[in-house]
Amino acid sequence: MTDMETILRMAEEAGFTYAAPLDPATIELKDEVRAMCASGSCGQYGKRWSCPPGCGELSECAAKIAGYRTGILVQSVGELEDSMDVEAMMETESDHKAHFQDLYADLRKRYPHMLALGAGCCTQCAACSYPDAPCRFPDRMVSSMEAYGMLVLEVCQKNGMAYYYGSNTIAYTSCFLLE
Ligand code: SF4
Repeated sequence: MTDMETILRMAEEAGFTYAAPLDPATIELKDEVRAMCASGSCGQYGKRWSCPPGCGELSECAAKIAGYRTGILVQSVGELEDSMDVEAMMETESDHKAHFQDLYADLRKRYPHMLALGAGCCTQCAACSYPDAPCRFPDRMVSSMEAYGMLVLEVCQKNGMAYYYGSNTIAYTSCFLLE
């Protein structure tokens, strides 16, 4: 088992702005978050195995999370010129996803049964096989924290991490649950 200090250093070296220990016992899965997915707010509902309903009922997600005793939150914070600075938003998101994949690859060597929950839907394949065929890479599929019913703001607050850094900033948050 790797100590928390080492894991947090790995997150920092991967390029995240912030990282903090995550206590899985603080995580509550909420029907309201699933309702936001179902409302089509991000356009991925019913389109990928990583997203509801393909990623399973909340009770199934809760059963998976129940097996973990520790984890980390990772966050990328970007500066925007103004609230319309889409370019900086996309760049921050892209950096966050790249750092996430790098750290995921490193942590998987130490925790082969970890659960990684990202920001946004799974992007392993350009076109997801859902619903016509099984997921092509079930070991690499990444659901979002929201797909699992987590209110990211609340998870951050309960684990001592900020969620909002001011009007001209954007923050992307993900987590890794470690066995
Ligand atoms: S790995 Fe591919 S098939 Fe599986 S959920 Fe992700 S995009 Fe879909």
